[in-house]
Amino acid sequence: MKTIESIPIDKARIENLARGAKPALPVIRAEKEKLIQRIKELLKARNAVLVSHYYVDEDLQILADETGGCVSDSLEMARFGYAHEAKTVVVGGVRFMGETAKILSPEKRILMPDLGAECSLDLSCKADVFSKFCDAHPDRTAVVYANTSAEVKARADWVVTSSIGVKVVRHLHEKGEKIIWAPDRYLGGYIQKVTGADMLLWPGYCVVHDAFKSEELEALHKKHPEAGILVHPESPMEVIDQADVVGSTTQLIKAVTELPNEVFIVATDRGIFHKMKEAAPNKKFIEAPIGGIGASCLSCAHCPWMAMNGLVNLAHTLETGKNEVHVDPEIGKQAMVSVKRMLDFAEQLKMKATGDANIISPA
Ligand code: SF4
Repeated sequence: MKTIESIPIDKARIENLARGAKPALPVIRAEKEKLIQRIKELLKARNAVLVSHYYVDEDLQILADETGGCVSDSLEMARFGYAHEAKTVVVGGVRFMGETAKILSPEKRILMPDLGAECSLDLSCKADVFSKFCDAHPDRTAVVYANTSAEVKARADWVVTSSIGVKVVRHLHEKGEKIIWAPDRYLGGYIQKVTGADMLLWPGYCVVHDAFKSEELEALHKKHPEAGILVHPESPMEVIDQADVVGSTTQLIKAVTELPNEVFIVATDRGIFHKMKEAAPNKKFIEAPIGGIGASCLSCAHCPWMAMNGLVNLAHTLETGKNEVHVDPEIGKQAMVSVKRMLDFAEQLKMKATGDANIISPA
């Protein structure tokens, strides 16, 4: 694996920001129904639709479903917002998701419950450093994960999500292209292993997935040998190596209905359990361990920035119109080129295949 050692990642800053992320205000049960009702009215009155990520609090996931919005991964959220007739899209997620929605729908108003919701991958990849690195390697194609700023997307040749990354990189590798991959080192390492492509890997990481521990996972599996192990590829390679299924959030949810196991150990943000339980109500889900040597419980399997989204700030942004996401129109246009490349590629794949073969084993 060729991780780019020369790239500085300010781990201390990222982890301080993660520690400092303020979780959404709790709502007492007596107030909750009223607040939910108010949000529903506001969504209608503002001609707005709510799109929530799988990792946000289940209240926001339920609200999105109940009001004709969607619960999905970052790309589908943006696609849904684009296709929906609403003039305002409220993004329950982190900032790069709001930006991606704005890139796809520059004419719409994009609101978020809290604009301070960061992502450690996005923070790991500063646009100026990334751009310089690309300039120094003009012979390489720059492929970036969706978890990046609009500026980084604008500088890249391709934007990919975890569900399509393997296919895009394999396609480029078969054309003889060498790659700069940013920003997640583990996802990049996984894609490199599966495709054999020549990739320089940015050393970024996700504070949630980085914390999963392989030895403890092995021990937990011994206690539950019947359990299937589901792993998001932002996790360390030794954790990925133990997986029955490696996949994006959507792919992992699909796996719980397709695999015969009654129990699953899940290595990704525990917010996903809401949709997993909905998909397979009689199955049991166990969080993959984050304890052991070096454990800091920085996230405890729940993204501190996703946790900033709540009912109170959601109602507030709808009431006031505050927390609007802005992307420089020129940057947005450039970023759209690399996003569109992926969307067109995905469309071609769909046309070639009769139903996506199972993403479960991208090898
Ligand atoms: S879970 Fe990780 S990758 Fe996802 S938003 Fe949080 S920090 Fe970023």
